[in-house]
Amino acid sequence: MSIPVQALGVSPALLVLLDYDGTLIGLRGRPELARLSTWRRRLLDELGRTAVLAIVTGRGLGEIQELVGIPSLAYIGNHGLEIAHGNRTWVHPGATERRGDLASVLRRIRTRTADLAGVIVEDKGLTAGIHYRLLDRPRVGRLKGIVHEELERRGAALKAAYGKKVIEIRPNLDWGKGRGVLEFMGWLGPAEGRSLIYIGDDRTDEDAFRVLAGVGTTVRVGTAKDSSAEFRLRGVGQVWALLRALTALRCP
Ligand SMILES: [Mg+2]
Repeated sequence: MSIPVQALGVSPALLVLLDYDGTLIGLRGRPELARLSTWRRRLLDELGRTAVLAIVTGRGLGEIQELVGIPSLAYIGNHGLEIAHGNRTWVHPGATERRGDLASVLRRIRTRTADLAGVIVEDKGLTAGIHYRLLDRPRVGRLKGIVHEELERRGAALKAAYGKKVIEIRPNLDWGKGRGVLEFMGWLGPAEGRSLIYIGDDRTDEDAFRVLAGVGTTVRVGTAKDSSAEFRLRGVGQVWALLRALTALRCP
């Protein structure tokens, strides 16, 4: 069975949910360089005129809006904790409550890691990333110890999650991309007659794949063995081929 591009293309209403890093753009060394090329931006802009198009990402809202640069799209940032579409914005209240805790923890981590060259603290407002790709390996253990001590001082307000050479600090909430997507779908009103496709490339998208099982088409990018997604695409190039085909069907 293959991805039902034709059916999605002719559906009277379509919701397209796209992860960003590793899905629309290859994973690069410096995340701030991950910009879309002009033709890709044009394609999303065009598709966004005949479908609701939402970017679903772990990046902060302001950052992803800036990187994509198309104001008319919807943006679901910080793994579903904040959403913006048109004039409407939303932030998970539990995440708002914990902003102060996060700021204090980051302040203390910065002070305590001042002598650890290569630690980069990325403050995304509601969440943070402590990057250690550039840190000498023997010192990684010390960094992890510091982060965990600081989180413990805050009780259960925040939690840590491990990514590729990064410790993510997030509000300790049962919330992810999937819940963010459901929140956003509530904004769109009744789903009758609306088709949906979600494309993502990593563990954090699995949460959305599970939530959307039976609701729409789910696609995992890459070669991971275990996935709740219905379909697979090999890489970023195939994602753009699909988006191009979809746009051609909807904007003839
Ligand atoms: Mg990704």
